[in-house]
Amino acid sequence: MATSEKIPYAVVGRGSNTLFDDRGFDGLAIINRYSSISEITPGRFRVASGTSLPLLSMKTTTKGWGGLEWSLGIPGSIGGALTMNAGASQSEISDSLEEIVYLHETGEIETFKREDLTFSYRRSPFQEMKGVILEATFALTNDPEARGRQLAVFEERRRKQPYHEPSLGCIFRNPMGISCGKLIEELGLKGMKMGGAHISPLHGNFITNPNEGTARDVFALIQLIEEKMWAEKELHLEKEIRIVPYSI
Ligand SMILES: Cc1cc2nc3c(=O)[nH]c(=O)nc-3n(C[C@H](O)[C@H](O)[C@H](O)COP(=O)(O)OP(=O)(O)OC[C@H]3O[C@@H](n4cnc5c(N)ncnc54)[C@H](O)[C@@H]3O)c2cc1C
Repeated sequence: MATSEKIPYAVVGRGSNTLFDDRGFDGLAIINRYSSISEITPGRFRVASGTSLPLLSMKTTTKGWGGLEWSLGIPGSIGGALTMNAGASQSEISDSLEEIVYLHETGEIETFKREDLTFSYRRSPFQEMKGVILEATFALTNDPEARGRQLAVFEERRRKQPYHEPSLGCIFRNPMGISCGKLIEELGLKGMKMGGAHISPLHGNFITNPNEGTARDVFALIQLIEEKMWAEKELHLEKEIRIVPYSI
C-alpha cells in the first residue's frame, strides 16, 4: 500500500537503535508489534519479528536452551536485532538463526535460509534491502547452564552500561575490533554535554538523554566525537545506529 501510493515509510521495531529527526518523519512509521513465540520442535523456535529479544532470551534459557542467553538487556525486537545483527559477548543473533520469512516491497514473501545470507559484525543484508522481516526460526542447543551465564552477563552489562538513562546503545561500531568506548574515553570526552544529551560518564560509546535532549544535541555530540577521533587518532568512525531523516 505505502509502495503503490509512493508514501515513504520506515520500519520500526523497538526504535532502540534508531535516531529520528526532531521534526519527526514525513512519511509512514510502521511500528511492528507482531509478537509470538512457538517451539515448533524441541529447541527450534519460530518467532514473529515484533517479539521482544529479551523476552525470547529469557523464555528460551528458562527452558534450558542456549544460544540467545547473551541478549538479555538488549532492548530490541527480533526484526531489529536481525537487521542490525545484534550481538554481545562474542555472540551474534545470526549464530542461532535457521531461516527468515521476508516481505519484499513488491508484496512477494520469500524464505531465506541462514546459509544464503551473509552477516558480519553489526551488519546484515537487510540493511540494504527495502522490505520487512516477518518471522524468523532459531535453532538452539540443549544447555542447562545458559540461564546462569545469562544472569552473569546481564549483571555485567548493568554495571558497565548506563541502563538508568535513555540511549540508543553504542553509537559507533568498534573500529578494527578496538573498543570505541575506550577510544572516546581516551579523547577525554566522557561526560561531555550538549543541550540535554551527554556522552555517558560510564561508557564513552553511549550518548544518553537524561533530560530533554534533542536529536540535534545527539548529532552535535556525534560530530564532536568524529572530528576529535580523526584529529587525534586518525580514525574514521562508522555509525552503528540508524538515522531516519525527516524526509527520504
Ligand atoms: C541500553 C541499550 C543497550 C544495547 N546493547 C546492545 C548490544 O549489546 N548489542 C547490540 O548489538 N545492540 C545493542 N543495542 C542496540 C539495539 O538495542 C539493537 O540493535 C536492537 O537489536 C535493535 O532492535 P530494535 O527493534 O530496537 O531496532 P530499531 O531501532 O527499531 O530498528 C533498527 C533497524 O532495523 C530495521 N528494522 C526493524 N525491524 C525490522 C523488520 N521487522 N524488518 C526489517 N527491518 C527492520 C529498522 O528500519 C532500522 O533500520 C542496545 C541499545 C540500548 C538502548
